[in-house]
Amino acid sequence: MLRGCKSTTLTPNEGIKPVKIYSIQLFYAYVWPDFIDYHTFVTMPEFAKKHQKTAPTAGIYLHIPFCKQACVYCNFHFSTSLRYKNEVLQAITKELELRKDYLNGAAIETIYIGGGTPSLLTADEINRLYETIMQHYPVQHIKEFTLEANPDDLEIAYLKSLRNTPVDRFSIGVQSFRDEDLVYMHRAHNAGQADYAIKAAQDAGFSNITIDFIYGTPGLTDAAWKSNLSKVKELSIPHFSAYALTVEEKTALHHNIMNRKTAPVDPEQAAGQFELLVDQATAMGFEQYEISNFALPGSYAVHNTNYWRGLPYLGIGPSAHSFNGTSRGWNVANNALYAKSILQDKKLAFEQEQLTPIQHLNEYIMTSLRTMWGCDLDKIANEWDSSFAQQVEKSSHLFREKKWLRQDGRVLLLTNAGKLFADKIAVELFID
Ligand code: SF4
Repeated sequence: MLRGCKSTTLTPNEGIKPVKIYSIQLFYAYVWPDFIDYHTFVTMPEFAKKHQKTAPTAGIYLHIPFCKQACVYCNFHFSTSLRYKNEVLQAITKELELRKDYLNGAAIETIYIGGGTPSLLTADEINRLYETIMQHYPVQHIKEFTLEANPDDLEIAYLKSLRNTPVDRFSIGVQSFRDEDLVYMHRAHNAGQADYAIKAAQDAGFSNITIDFIYGTPGLTDAAWKSNLSKVKELSIPHFSAYALTVEEKTALHHNIMNRKTAPVDPEQAAGQFELLVDQATAMGFEQYEISNFALPGSYAVHNTNYWRGLPYLGIGPSAHSFNGTSRGWNVANNALYAKSILQDKKLAFEQEQLTPIQHLNEYIMTSLRTMWGCDLDKIANEWDSSFAQQVEKSSHLFREKKWLRQDGRVLLLTNAGKLFADKIAVELFID
């Protein structure tokens, strides 16, 4: 997905990761811990075919589960040991081959290498992965090839080598341009490296850059947050994402807060800084096209936008998630087990859940509301049932009265005030 450093945290009220959104109210066709054959992934109930018809394109996500060091807030799947790097890359290559039918031949529009820290891959390794994709998937219509990168990896020689790969977009994990925040987060880079990496990438010819921010960190004053945001304009960056710091269980941050080694996160601070974010981004000419994502006109992330539109994607690598229009699957989050399962046992290790039409509809409500294109009642009527559209419209009444939602024709949209309660509102609109 869509998974990567940028998805670690969300806006103040949300508290659930994007990938978890899709587990709400779903029934589970769990097959774990048994390993099952990859063909089991390819299922297509009748109800989903009309949705599938509108989704002739798809994305591929590759998860590179290695990092130099662990950031305190991170609960993604990664290892700071490179012990299994070669095996995992071999297994990723094999998984690409095994699952070539998962997307039913849909044209690949985007490739996104996330992690973990994909900038630990060499240009040759990236090219070999792309060659495998080219062998098994239709790639003639690729619009975007993104590599997540940490600033400390973006040295000039590495950037030059990447010019000889299909990578045409960077997602750089900046998080902050202030050393004190980066030390607090236990990031592997400093503020000077963040600045340098962006300029070096631009000098090397990569203009399509997005950066990630984290706000709500103790010590980040409102003035410092505004100053961080102003770097986007100063450095001519066309896209950025911003997430409130959230404290996930089993992270070092959670442990440190519980043991009073670090200050707790203040939700009021995060909520206030979310409002500052929206105001300043708008003043700088950015569109908030998704709650946590901001782009200059025309610079939307294609991969992520397709995900929010409900297009299928294939996730390859340990812990990667997939969606084929009817079911979701997620690979085992263990590097050694992932590699062994594919390379030795010739099986994929994953769990999956089949979506019912109602679950699919509720996902649409949840995801579409977060975007500037909103939740389209006519689409609900056409693709599900007109009674569902009426029900959603009726349930929205209370929030329209509170001015958290507004209705533009047949489309429901969050107001700025409503954006602080996006998930709560979506859940209230769900169909039972
Ligand atoms: S760089 Fe940090 S935030 Fe990103 S995946 Fe690694 S540990 Fe997590």
